[in-house]
Amino acid sequence: MKILVINAGSSSLKYQLIDMDTKQVMAKGLCERIGIEGSMLNHTVNGKKIQLPTEMKNHAQAIQAVIAALLDKEHGVISSMNEISAVGHRVVHGGEKFSGSVIITEAVKKALEECIDLAPLHNPPNLTGISACEEAMPGVPQVAVFDTAFHQTMPPASFLYAIPFEYYEKCKIRRYGFHGTSHKYVAGRAASLLGKNIEDLKIITCHLGNGSSITAIDGGKSVDTSMGFTPLAGLLMGTRCGDIDPAIVTFLMEKEHLSPEEMDAILNKKSGVYGLSGVSSDFRDVEAAANGGNKVAKVALDMFAYQVKKTIGSYAAAMGGVDAIVFTAGIGENNNVLRASVAEGLEFLGVQIDAEKNNVRGQEIDISTPDAKVRMMVIPTNEELAIALETKALVG
Ligand code: AMP
Repeated sequence: MKILVINAGSSSLKYQLIDMDTKQVMAKGLCERIGIEGSMLNHTVNGKKIQLPTEMKNHAQAIQAVIAALLDKEHGVISSMNEISAVGHRVVHGGEKFSGSVIITEAVKKALEECIDLAPLHNPPNLTGISACEEAMPGVPQVAVFDTAFHQTMPPASFLYAIPFEYYEKCKIRRYGFHGTSHKYVAGRAASLLGKNIEDLKIITCHLGNGSSITAIDGGKSVDTSMGFTPLAGLLMGTRCGDIDPAIVTFLMEKEHLSPEEMDAILNKKSGVYGLSGVSSDFRDVEAAANGGNKVAKVALDMFAYQVKKTIGSYAAAMGGVDAIVFTAGIGENNNVLRASVAEGLEFLGVQIDAEKNNVRGQEIDISTPDAKVRMMVIPTNEELAIALETKALVG
């Protein structure tokens, strides 16, 4: 069975064709500058990247270009579209309507349209990607896999905000959480590696990348997560501020005469380790700056490690214990210094890492000492494979 995974953004579209028998990526790529002059298809097969300048006025043309690349005699990987059994779409926001992946129907599309308010930048291109695939591949089942769905098991005590209840009822303001596909995938892999049923485990998953979130997973269910109504909440990130006193927003708007758009840009694009260090949103650059004597860059990195540690501690308390702590995504998978600094001081919980194992990169590994009570693990995330697995489970 071959499944096409589509992640459609406003002017870009990422794709992967995955052979579900081998779990191997047959081809992958990125359509850039859709609807903008100079659009480009970047197609990768067997590690070889081909750049194809291709006119893509809209997402429908982008999907056509992807199909043409997959079927191409030279750099294609299939001989007929009939080889594609299903398409799995990454959809950012499912609101409260979706607590799992679903086969896309007219009713599902309508429900997705109703969620546009909650993710105005993301859901519209996701919907456009779906329509484009339906047009190009009539009759092929399409599945929506949501970033938010995994967190729909959170209880009200975790997801409600203490603002007038009418805003939850009227405007659907609550914690939704994001990165759900990744948290679910790495938690499942952790249980498999430990040889245990996920129902019997308390796991804390730390997805630390350009966007970062931490989730408490009790018995396989998300019971709390650090991102909130939007992906701005929780930990400080590359350019996002994470949790701050909400009064800062109105204070700064008044003091600096900022419009809502300007304030939003400050919190989402000019804050985090970038805003603090003034250097970069990339943790590698911030580390280099800290090593070169940039004191605020050093504090920014210390803040990040401190917030990760604090969140792990609070989630262990929320679940009444923890069996495994999982690190994933760009920083979680690669930054051994950060992992060591988070582990330091968590010995009271039963965390004890093996310094040598902590240096290993790019593989699933338990980095704890043999007698540690809490397993600390590094598990590379694979959101595309996770989407393909969810799709396969639904279409059989
Ligand atoms: P992501 O959003 O998951 O791609 O993660 C991006 C973040 O991961 C950036 O801040 C990078 O500094 C960090 N990162 C990615 N690759 C590496 C690497 N090989 N070594 C250290 N940090 C990395």
